[in-house]
Amino acid sequence: MIKPAEFIHPEDAAALRQLESIPGFPALAKKILELGYEKLMYGLNMASAIRLSETQLPELYRHLPPICEKLGIAEPEFYLRMDPNPNAYTSGDTRIFIVVTSGLVEMMDDEELDAVLAHECGHILCRHVVYNMVVQYLQYGLDALGILGSIAKPVEYALLYWSRKAELSCDRCGSIITTPDVVARTMARLAGGPQSITRHLNMEEWARQADRYDEIQNDGLWNKALQLSVIIGQDHPFSAVRVREILKWGRSAQYRQLMEGLQAAASGKHCPHCGRSVCTDWNFCKYCGTKL
Ligand SMILES: [Zn+2]
Ligand SMILES: [Zn+2]
Repeated sequence: MIKPAEFIHPEDAAALRQLESIPGFPALAKKILELGYEKLMYGLNMASAIRLSETQLPELYRHLPPICEKLGIAEPEFYLRMDPNPNAYTSGDTRIFIVVTSGLVEMMDDEELDAVLAHECGHILCRHVVYNMVVQYLQYGLDALGILGSIAKPVEYALLYWSRKAELSCDRCGSIITTPDVVARTMARLAGGPQSITRHLNMEEWARQADRYDEIQNDGLWNKALQLSVIIGQDHPFSAVRVREILKWGRSAQYRQLMEGLQAAASGKHCPHCGRSVCTDWNFCKYCGTKL
């Protein structure tokens, strides 16, 4: 069982606090759900996508249960949709479901698909899904239910800003189940195309593009305004930024300790002195120093 506090990106946590402090925002999110948006999305999906199971394309379906078990979340429904664009998303509040497109399945290898599914499960674990539905409502529902007139643009921008930061937390979740390198690889596929083209992509060089982007962005007011006008309506951060952030986290003490803790918990072995979970290859307990 993994807790969001163990991996949430600090910019996600800050953006969420900001979003939830906007007067009327939590009520708005609730209202969208009450109006039946969840049911609408669920029904549309049920009518158009293929639900995967032990008896329906089991090889694809079997990617999901072990990830849910490792993360300690209830298993959501899992669907496949025909779309040449590689994509995955999670929707719902009381009945949560994950959808992957045929383009995604075709483009990713098994590990990469796990990373994408773990990213989606991260949205569930971090309880992003309700707010993500409001984002979807903004983008796809296009005010079909006629209540957006009552919310101001700044709320929409605050929501999209949070949404971009939330992606960074979920990339971390993806790398807990796989590795930061695998998550970076999924980004390479999504940004540059299939393995046949992007297999030898230099990740570090690509990540430096994010630094270059920051330099341009911070170079005077005009550039900042220009950049802001481009990103303000996006719900995902630029892929170079995501790659830089995930590679950086992969080198952090937080990631190392978290993975060590998971490995120790999975070993089933405990320190005879302090009782905490320990890894099989440890000679000494890292917590109390007892010889194992
Ligand atoms: Zn996401
Ligand atoms: Zn100990």
